[in-house]
Amino acid sequence: MPKTTTSRKASLAPRRTDDLDARSRRARAERMAVTPIGGGVYEVDSESGHTYFVDLPGSRCTCPDHMYRGTRCKHLRRVAIEVDEGRVPPPGEMAVDCTVCDTTLFVDERDDGPYCCEHCELAPGETVVDAESDDLLVVVRTTDRRADEVQVPGHDCTVAEYPKNERYPDDDPVVEALYPLPSGMAADEVRPHHLRPYSFPISRLERRYR
Ligand SMILES: [Zn+2]
Ligand SMILES: [Zn+2]
Repeated sequence: MPKTTTSRKASLAPRRTDDLDARSRRARAERMAVTPIGGGVYEVDSESGHTYFVDLPGSRCTCPDHMYRGTRCKHLRRVAIEVDEGRVPPPGEMAVDCTVCDTTLFVDERDDGPYCCEHCELAPGETVVDAESDDLLVVVRTTDRRADEVQVPGHDCTVAEYPKNERYPDDDPVVEALYPLPSGMAADEVRPHHLRPYSFPISRLERRYR
């Protein structure tokens, strides 16, 4: 689920202000909260209590300072600063939570998930531990499909509904993993189920060895 990130209504830490004009200083010093509303438009809750809308790509603001004087007003500057500093997503992107660790990440506005941060993403060949059984597994493939979209072969349910998966997020990306062959297993002892990857919600697979 995309979340509505609003930066906390506060002033920003001052920078070296020697070379800044009055509007740039106010853009940092005044208490404002910025909320992205999509399409490059941001709602700015200003210190005066007025709400203005800033179109960042179009360099426009609905405040009188911009409308009547055509200036690059403090709201426009403030939105640009907050985008620059990563406090709010840039135009075309939205803020979402990583399904595993809840870190906020910025993704394309058209990306319908699942969302997983770089740190939590698993790579093929990685060794992981099944949190339910403590079994060792090897990641075969990562997918962009949600646990509640993928059917478990031979069962009338999705990966999310499968017993023991219910406590993991429905929107977890599905990861296919294989049980490694027991060491010393002879080639003629290998059976098809040894080689069949199983689908897991990513949060169920723990990375204990790195
Ligand atoms: Zn303005
Ligand atoms: Zn994460």
